[in-house]
Amino acid sequence: MRQVLGIPAGAAIATAVVAASHSAPVVTTWGQVRNRVLPRLAGVGARDGVALTFDDGPDPVSTPAFLDALDALSVRATFFLLGTLVARAPSLTAEITAAGHEVAVHGWDHRSMLLRLPPAALDGLRRARDVITAASGATPTMYRPPFGQLSVSALAGARGAGLQTVLWTVWGADWAASATPESVLHELGEPRGGATILLHDSDCTSTPGSWRTTLAALPRVVEQCAAAGLAVRPLGEHLHQAMMPPVPPPLPATVGPPAPSVIP
Ligand SMILES: [Zn+2]
Repeated sequence: MRQVLGIPAGAAIATAVVAASHSAPVVTTWGQVRNRVLPRLAGVGARDGVALTFDDGPDPVSTPAFLDALDALSVRATFFLLGTLVARAPSLTAEITAAGHEVAVHGWDHRSMLLRLPPAALDGLRRARDVITAASGATPTMYRPPFGQLSVSALAGARGAGLQTVLWTVWGADWAASATPESVLHELGEPRGGATILLHDSDCTSTPGSWRTTLAALPRVVEQCAAAGLAVRPLGEHLHQAMMPPVPPPLPATVGPPAPSVIP
């Protein structure tokens, strides 16, 4: 019988069909179309600010430098964490929340969700959520899949684990070997109210040392947002504030009954 990767052809096709039925990407993970059509998934939030998010940590080599930089900038952010790394660095995970930042789930590991069946996806997300909760003392409410790859398994797993799936509206492409602080700023473009910025505080899945480029760009990213009059917030607050009703205009000065005329 014809073999595909050592598996009989018929079985290989059946496996592929089963996998595809659970893993078919359900939306594009790229571009402005997603931001407009699915703003909640993209992380479009309150128009008076931007959300700052970091993926792929916690990394004892690099994450502490980001915590120091954010402290110096008086900015709080959201860290999408990997369960395997949290298990190795629980005290660093606790430092993230102790510094006022938000923690969220990036997965148990950084493998693609496209070929994972629903039970495995759900199991991985629950494990990641639980290890982050135990280490940080905060229960994550959001999930961003590795590579931003969405699938039925990823979305159903997130729902089953009580997590809202949120991607990003702009990224700095800071993982590339060719990235520089200038290229990161260029990729991000002019700050826009409502945006969710994706950067990386770890190079565990990208070019070794690339986090140094991100770190060097960070003050200017925050500076540009401030210059544009935009607050920089963690993602949860960013989304929450977008759902708040607009502040009503101030009431007109109270008009009471006319003061009694004084009879001389
Ligand atoms: Zn990642």
